[in-house]
Amino acid sequence: MPELPEVETIACHLRPALTGRVVAQVAIAWARTIDRPDVASFQSQIVGDRFVSVGRRGKYLLFGLESGRVLLVHLRMSGRFDLRPGGQPPVNEPHTRASFQLDDGAWVDFIDPRKFGRFYLVDDADDLLHGLGIEPLSPDFTASWLQDHLSEHRGEIKRLLLDQNFIAGLGNIYVSESLWHARIHPARSAASLTPPESRRLHTAIVQVLRSAVADGGTSLNDRQYVYPNRDLGGHQPHLMVYDRSGDACPRCGYAVERTVQGQRSTYFCPVCQPAP
Ligand SMILES: [Zn+2]
Repeated sequence: MPELPEVETIACHLRPALTGRVVAQVAIAWARTIDRPDVASFQSQIVGDRFVSVGRRGKYLLFGLESGRVLLVHLRMSGRFDLRPGGQPPVNEPHTRASFQLDDGAWVDFIDPRKFGRFYLVDDADDLLHGLGIEPLSPDFTASWLQDHLSEHRGEIKRLLLDQNFIAGLGNIYVSESLWHARIHPARSAASLTPPESRRLHTAIVQVLRSAVADGGTSLNDRQYVYPNRDLGGHQPHLMVYDRSGDACPRCGYAVERTVQGQRSTYFCPVCQPAP
């Protein structure tokens, strides 16, 4: 599932192609991709409108429109965009759920094999975003913020970090990586972290995310995340534990282990990240 670095990278790639362009036509091949409004209203409202901004909040893509409306897109498990500048032939892609043609002739397709991705065309983005947690790459996310808020949560640290209403944008890959860097076992109670541990965790989250954004995100073997021009992200070689069970821990050499927490795989080093 795309996380903050992947969504940020997609926004950066789509921004120059979309900003200033008017939507010339829209085809919706899978109606449930459009969460709101209904498909007919979605088409009539967005055709003729102009993209004025492309941004991100948490794992949502935000497309600002000249009308004042905002198109929010959540990619969920497998959603991706495919961008074809004008004149390029259509791709024969059976999982295309929505296609936009821009006024310069370019096509932007939304491809989503698992069909969980959703589009929301709204007057006020806050309708969807109001409950989202702090942005981990914003200046508000400080070591003291994290320490103060961890103390309020007795549940497992990994599950808390996956909660989008606590920190927005983290997912399974970067939580596993951050906890390894911070040398914290994923099943520890959040409230049990000592001040040095919460400072290490803060540093790890920020550095892991910055590094992954700089690398253009992580394309796993399933290839569900690729850039809109179909290039791959570059962060894969920098993963220390994620999807590496049985490999030697890059810090101590012991075998990386995989466990399951809340139906999600967790990867950790049992030596560097001692069990509670
Ligand atoms: Zn280790």
